[in-house]
Amino acid sequence: MQVKTQLEDFENYLADASNLKGGHCQKLFVPETSGEISEILRGANEAAIPVTISGARTGTVGGAIPFGGYVISLEKLNKIEEIRKVELTAIVQPGVILSDFQKVVEAENLFYPPDPTEWSCQIGGTIATNASGARSFKYGATRNYVQHLKIVLANGENLELKRGEIRGGTDGIINLITEQGNSIKINVPTYKRPNVRKNVSGYFSEEGLDAIDLFIGSEGTLGVITEIKFSVLPKPEGFFSGIVFFSSEENLLSLVSEVRDLSFANRTSHVANTLNASLIEYFDANSLEFIREKFPETPKNMTGAIFFEQETNAESEDGLLEDWNELLEKHGADLDRSWFTTTETDREKMRAFRHALPVAVNERISRHNQKKVGTDMAVPDENFAGFLRFYKQMLRASGLDYVIFGHIGDNHLHANILPKNDLEAEKARHLYGRSIAQAIMLGGTISAEHGIGKLKSKYLNVMMGERYLNEMAGIKKAFDPKGILGRNNMFDAKLLG
Ligand SMILES: Cc1cc2nc3c(=O)[nH]c(=O)nc-3n(C[C@H](O)[C@H](O)[C@H](O)COP(=O)(O)OP(=O)(O)OC[C@H]3O[C@@H](n4cnc5c(N)ncnc54)[C@H](O)[C@@H]3O)c2cc1C
Repeated sequence: MQVKTQLEDFENYLADASNLKGGHCQKLFVPETSGEISEILRGANEAAIPVTISGARTGTVGGAIPFGGYVISLEKLNKIEEIRKVELTAIVQPGVILSDFQKVVEAENLFYPPDPTEWSCQIGGTIATNASGARSFKYGATRNYVQHLKIVLANGENLELKRGEIRGGTDGIINLITEQGNSIKINVPTYKRPNVRKNVSGYFSEEGLDAIDLFIGSEGTLGVITEIKFSVLPKPEGFFSGIVFFSSEENLLSLVSEVRDLSFANRTSHVANTLNASLIEYFDANSLEFIREKFPETPKNMTGAIFFEQETNAESEDGLLEDWNELLEKHGADLDRSWFTTTETDREKMRAFRHALPVAVNERISRHNQKKVGTDMAVPDENFAGFLRFYKQMLRASGLDYVIFGHIGDNHLHANILPKNDLEAEKARHLYGRSIAQAIMLGGTISAEHGIGKLKSKYLNVMMGERYLNEMAGIKKAFDPKGILGRNNMFDAKLLG
């Protein structure tokens, strides 16, 4: 195991994609086995030294940034241990990079659906944040694929959790026994999750809670995930994808609404022969302007666009193409200027089109030496159109540069505000606060996929309220009585007092 104590050796571990400044630590550990992780944590726990778990640090909310103590990097636990084709499962270590895992799975003619836009993240990071992406519209977030976890707890003890094995009883208590024979009692939280399809704000909760679900999305606060068994799926035979342009926003939204309804209705069918989008992504007019910097062929004067993907097979392809064509015509899409494909190469180009947006946005913002202010909220179906109107009216009136884009199938759009100077940056932060308040008022979540980390804990406070935050703190204390893990992630360390 490597142990680094010099700033120049661990400088890269003091920052992530959040731009949060001021990270510092005493030591970086790079263990190669779960036994070594136990050893580090035993020592840290006895001395009450804070420990931050570091994945690939692509997180956008500062979860992997240490403010003192030790950092444990999982980069050396990076083996794909087994892929069982017949059983449709894979066993992996947490430091495996998602894109490497995706490639190996695909080579076996299998499919692992979670696809956060940033594929350089580690598998362990995706579990700790319950990552999701465009395809979550059809396939859900990472949680849906986790069958089995091995975990090292704050005191160095080991815990193994298999889905379905340990659930909250009618008394609202989960009883866990560590491999060392010690018992941990958890009170199942009583809060109701918001009625949205994507939500990563706080510990998971539901009636009869499965203990494994507490760790998925726990943002490095409950234990170190050291091995994961996933479910994987057979690889879909083919895809039909399109980037479809609209000159009327009303038409665009009515199309999304019908595609969403049809897709949900057809979801139970496991054969790819019904209209059933695997992703629906949105770009507003400003986003198209930004993308045109990279894709000059992007049509001008459009009010917005949709990127969709539909799985097909040899028998269903022709029929599905017709169904989509009919639907798009019905909703007034500009078919002459839209792009469609069934080939892998063009599909990659469409993904590049989607990816060009954050790249162009980041280039613009760094020209002004500012940080973008990005939202990550989702709201219930019935409030989505109103929330989008709210975003547009507020942002247009602000006079600031902005783009709105993202996972419209899940009512989850990112508004990126792009300040050009400090005054605008302050205004942008104020607008962010207003958006949070509006999302909470509409029964939504403050974070649909990026998590709370250190940046959004004050908003989690507002969303959940003191009583439920204390229930979360109770869970944290049961697993980590000295509060050493992921300090200040999700909630203020003072709550653990
Ligand atoms: C351009 C860009 C696009 C993105 N798009 C998406 C998206 O579409 N969807 C999405 O969900 N996210 C997205 N993200 C956010 C990020 O990529 C994900 O949250 C990712 O899952 C983080 O993985 P990581 O390995 O980088 O984790 P890190 O950033 O290193 O850590 C994240 C959190 O997980 C904890 N952690 C890491 N590994 C472990 C472990 N083994 N055990 C316990 N805790 C651990 C850390 O302590 C920290 O709290 C995006 C980020 C960027 C920069």
